[in-house]
Amino acid sequence: MKHTTARVLAVTALAGALTGVVVPSASASQVPDYRTWVSDVHTAMQGGTTYLDDRIAKGGTKLAVVTDIDNTALETYYHPGEPTADVLAFIKHAKENGVSVLVASYRSSASGAKEALVDAGYPVDKVCVRKSSEKHATETKQRCRKEYAAAGYTIIANVGNRPGDMTGGNYEKGFKLPDYNEQLS
Ligand SMILES: [Mg+2]
Repeated sequence: MKHTTARVLAVTALAGALTGVVVPSASASQVPDYRTWVSDVHTAMQGGTTYLDDRIAKGGTKLAVVTDIDNTALETYYHPGEPTADVLAFIKHAKENGVSVLVASYRSSASGAKEALVDAGYPVDKVCVRKSSEKHATETKQRCRKEYAAAGYTIIANVGNRPGDMTGGNYEKGFKLPDYNEQLS
């Protein structure tokens, strides 16, 4: 009996010690929980499909949407590989209404990027990724949109989560998801 009690106390002490270990670091604690992120994404994407309908009705040449992958199309930080529901609904709505789905990502593998998106249920027409000479995601995103525009696409919406996803133009309307001071890639 005495032995068992000692063991229980030891286990309790160990659990206490482990609890101390999992206290998040200062920077990690600034990233909100999943529910908050989903809510913030929902706010950012609100009115998205209505905007698409209105914009598509106005017509134009080779209408397209551009999306970022990590923490935009995919829930990379919270659930790697899983689609972000509101973004997936937006992209599918675009595709179902004749709008091309173009990707701009700082990932280095175009085939890997496309596979990840297709696995998550995304329709994907074209993928543009980082060139080895590019040192900042912003450079890649701007070049990708420039190339898409040069190929004749009219980018009616640009979806991203970093400030650098949104700078440089070549799109009509931006949907900026949260990055919490650049803590989400
Ligand atoms: Mg991102």
